[in-house]
Amino acid sequence: MSTIDGEDHVIIDMAFQHLAGRVWICPGDPDPASVQAGVALVADERGSVLVDAGQSPAHAREIRSALAAAGLPPPRWLVYTHHHWDHVWGACAWPDVEIVGHVAGERLLREEAARPWSHRYLREQVRANPRLGPSFRARALAVDSWDGFAVLPPTRTFTDELELPVGVRVRHVGGAHAPDSTVVAVPDSGVLLLGDCFYPPPAHLRTPEDRPDLALVRRLLADDVHWYVASHQPPMTLDEARAAGAAAR
Ligand SMILES: [Zn+2]
Repeated sequence: MSTIDGEDHVIIDMAFQHLAGRVWICPGDPDPASVQAGVALVADERGSVLVDAGQSPAHAREIRSALAAAGLPPPRWLVYTHHHWDHVWGACAWPDVEIVGHVAGERLLREEAARPWSHRYLREQVRANPRLGPSFRARALAVDSWDGFAVLPPTRTFTDELELPVGVRVRHVGGAHAPDSTVVAVPDSGVLLLGDCFYPPPAHLRTPEDRPDLALVRRLLADDVHWYVASHQPPMTLDEARAAGAAAR
């Protein structure tokens, strides 16, 4: 369902879609300019696992409404796939969650948390480094108010792997996109959540030679994992992920 907000913008309502087993996904905005990552929820009556926080408190609140509308149990754990803003800036709008993230991301997010975020600061940073423009303009549009805004480092870190009590496995893969890139496996549902792990570095750090890391995609393929979910595109079946991984062999 979509609504028109009185001007000429179409607002697509956030909604959770069932993927497989216990896994639900809430896709982000398909417009790349809005830099909005999707999130996933592993539903569990003992407390769900939310994978990524949304790009802003406003986005997180929309996701929370969508969760309630779908009747899904609220999250007790929030797992960061990596430290990039469009995956973590919504965290401060999720109450009562333990935030799980890789130890390298924790260091980076401590630095991010110390920056004086505001629309003025975003403008100054873009003036000093124009390559930040697309990312920082998207942040300026995503955050309507800085009141109560905070970048939250993970409260529970890991180095290689971690298993949450609800059968969700978190594994560090690293790579060129982000040093803390982490994949989240839900074995009983045949789903692997990839975050942005195989994407090239973020735009302001990218060189013309950078390509998606298809070798990483191939390493992650497994016959008992039927769905592969990256944050900025529709889910891939095993066959689609195999084809994507083979593309530039
Ligand atoms: Zn990213």
